[in-house]
Order: sequence, then structure tokens, then C-alpha cells
Amino acid sequence: MEHRISTRVRDIAPSATVSVDTKTKALLKEGRPVINMSVGEPDFDTPVATAYAGIRAIVEGNTRYTATTGTLELRQAIARKLMTENGLQYAPEQIVVSSGAKHSLFNIFLAICDPGDEVILPAPYWVSYPEQIRLAGATPVVVDCSEAAGFKLTPQQLEQAITPRTKAVLLNSPSNPTGAVYHREELVALGHVLERHDVFVVTDEIYEKLVYDVEHLSIAALVPELMPRTIVVNGFSKAFAMTGWRLGYMAGPTDVVKAVASLQSHATGNPSSISQAAGVVALATYEDRMVRMFRQRRDVLVSALQAMDGVTCALPEGAFYVFPNVSAHFGKRLGEQAIPNAVAFCEALLEDELVAAVPGDAFGAPNHIRLSYATSLEQIETAIERMSRFVRKLH
Ligand code: PMP
Ligand code: GLU
Repeated sequence: MEHRISTRVRDIAPSATVSVDTKTKALLKEGRPVINMSVGEPDFDTPVATAYAGIRAIVEGNTRYTATTGTLELRQAIARKLMTENGLQYAPEQIVVSSGAKHSLFNIFLAICDPGDEVILPAPYWVSYPEQIRLAGATPVVVDCSEAAGFKLTPQQLEQAITPRTKAVLLNSPSNPTGAVYHREELVALGHVLERHDVFVVTDEIYEKLVYDVEHLSIAALVPELMPRTIVVNGFSKAFAMTGWRLGYMAGPTDVVKAVASLQSHATGNPSSISQAAGVVALATYEDRMVRMFRQRRDVLVSALQAMDGVTCALPEGAFYVFPNVSAHFGKRLGEQAIPNAVAFCEALLEDELVAAVPGDAFGAPNHIRLSYATSLEQIETAIERMSRFVRKLH
């Protein structure tokens, strides 16, 4: 056997966000007082009513296969949510519930991409997009969105990136890792470019509830001509603190939905019946108690980073990440140890000061690091002290 592992999988890198988190959780288990700002996971518990809905599903025997695409009850609840909150009209038959939004995205790329197809991917991007696009045989066409433009794709950049091979454009607002949120006029301008090109728009709106003083808007609600080509992705992990339940969904045009349903029927079948029952209650009982806390944490963290030696940091308008530029420190040393890049910076920060962050390389922005503020204010304050001490030690 020349190669035991397929080329398809050999060529992808494991998820950096997941691997830093795994390493950090192992250190915590050993009793090391690490502050985990690596992974995008709310520190809140799943709301009690939702948790009990899961327990009830188990004890009442709601533990069998459901329809592959999810129960009608859950898809009806999602359709109502998309209508009332996002101004998007989808029938329950246009929705597929999957085992997390990550799974929904993977299904979508597999269902729409052929080898040779291109998917336009604005950078900084969430770590799993390029690998999922490659796994589907397509090519991610990375478009660098500058810090000066708020890390957002401009209509000119979009126009230039579209070729006859473009199959889809990926939008993620609020963004992981930058927290950038597209405003109404920006989405409308992108929409006008997209109207002229027959490509899919895959819009990942998983952080929609986490916006600070701005509105979350969905592109197809603003430019309805795009509706037949738009695929909306969302999930329960962030807004409902349900990362471990693995529940996400997509809504889109009927042909794509049918293809995704068929694919899912062979790959995983339905998402957990227990999680689905909890999801219905989660949608019915949502409270935005997290948003105020996240905003306070963001403000504390960003002002501290802005005051830190050799660090610049924009104020993000959404999600729970900050994405500071630490490149002024590259080329320095910590004692004898060289810090040539963000990977070394994050490794040294973890080893020396026990703060876990993710290097920007994972998101296509190697001058930056990503810190998640989905952790308590107290932990954030300690992390700030540790980071300030860390950058002062670099020479
Ligand atoms: N999209 C984005 C932008 C994310 O940050 C994540 C990470 N949680 C996901 C999708 C996937 O989330 P999940 O699979 O937990 O629903
Ligand atoms: N999306 C979160 C993050 O970026 C969770 C981990 C993952 O699935 O990548 O940290």
C-alpha cells in the first residue's frame, strides 16, 4: 500500500480551533490554571427548560429515528423563526436539520460543488470553510479583506473574484474570527453584484444573536432576487449554548435541499432525536440574557488590548471573538525562545502565561491571533494581566 490514507483527507489539516481547545482542556484536567480563550463556545449552560426538554425526550421514549431532515415540528419552528426574525420565507420542506452547523455546511459544499468549481471565501475566514470546500473537490478562492475595510468583502473585490467557474460565495456575518458585521448598505451592494452572476450565496448566520449596537441582516431578505440561489446556515450552538447537542440547520432552494437530504440519508441519517426535541423548546424560550454580558466583556478586553505594547485591535460589532494584530512582536524573543510568527506567539503565551489563543494562520490572517471572550469577566481580567506581562517580557 503506497498510501494508507486517501489524498482527499491527507491534504487537509486538522481543525486548529478544535486542536488548541483539546490541548487546553487536557492541561485544565491536569490541574494547570489555563484560561481558555481558544474555542468559540459559550461559557453558559444550556437553558434549563431546553435541557429538561432533552431529558423528557429520553424518558418519554422520543429516542428513535426521526425523518432524515429533522422532525416536522422542529422544521416548522425553524421556518417560523426564519420568517419572523430574518424576513425569510421558507417552507418546512426547504429546511434540513443536521448534527451542527458544521455538518450543514459540509453537506452544502458536497451537494453543490464539483471538481474545478470555485468558492469565493473572504478572509479572515472560519478555519473549517477552506477544508470543507477542498473535501468537496472544489477550490477555495480566498479574497483578503483588509483590516482597514473592517475585514469585510467589498463589491469591487467580489466582482473581481467571480469567474465562470465560481459556484458559490460564502458570507459569514457576524464573522468568526473577526466579529465583523455587514451593514445594510454593504449587503445590498454585494447583493447587486451577485444579482448579475448566477452563483450560490452560502450565508452562515450562526452568530446572528450576538450583535452589539448593530442589526443582524440576512442578504436574501434585502435582495429577494437572490432567494432562489441563497442557502442560509444557522444553528443552536452559540445563541442557545448548545455546542455539545450538535444541532444546526440549512434552508435553501428545493433542489439543493433535496440533494442535501439525500446525502444526509446515507451519511448520518437524522440528527439526534433528543437534541431536536430540545431545539423546539430552545426556539420557543429564547432569552437574550447573554448579549449584555458579552458586550461588557468585549469592551473590557478590547480596551485592554488597545493599551497593550505592540498590539492593535479593532472593536468588533458581533460574535464573541477579538482579532488583535500582534505582528509587531514577530522577530522578538521570550528568553532564548524565538517568536517568529503567530503560531510561536500563541504557543509561548500558552506555555509561559497559560492563556490559550488561536493563531491567525488558521483563519488566513497570520498577523493576528484570535481570542474568544466567551469566558467569565474574571477570567478575562486575569488573562489581560497575563498577556500584558507576556508582551512586556518579549525583547
Ligand atoms: N460556523 C461558524 C462561523 C462557526 O464559528 C462554527 C463553530 N461553532 C460553526 C459554523 C459550527 O457550529 P456547530 O457545528 O457547533 O453548529
Ligand atoms: N466554531 C468554534 C471555533 O471556531 C468552535 C470550534 C470549531 O468547531 O471550530 O472555535
